[in-house]
Amino acid sequence: MAIKIEKRIPGEVTCSYCKGTGKHDGESCIVCGGGGKVNVVDTNKRCQWCKGNGFLMKGIPCTNCGGTGYTRPVDRSRLF
Ligand SMILES: [Zn+2]
Ligand SMILES: [Zn+2]
Repeated sequence: MAIKIEKRIPGEVTCSYCKGTGKHDGESCIVCGGGGKVNVVDTNKRCQWCKGNGFLMKGIPCTNCGGTGYTRPVDRSRLF
């Protein structure tokens, strides 16, 4: 049985929701926690839903990628 395994490269990316500033509307970014960086399960993949923006509507993080703009964050099982 052949299973095609996608090459996943986990790693740190710049948070798309706050664009790496760590701040969002004057408060700590809820996606990266204020660090401006976030660990995702696959740095090669951009989120198809938000096109890598981290949000679909302003003020609401993308539920597909958790606001990272890439894939699901590594250290978070539950998204918004
Ligand atoms: Zn952020
Ligand atoms: Zn997304």
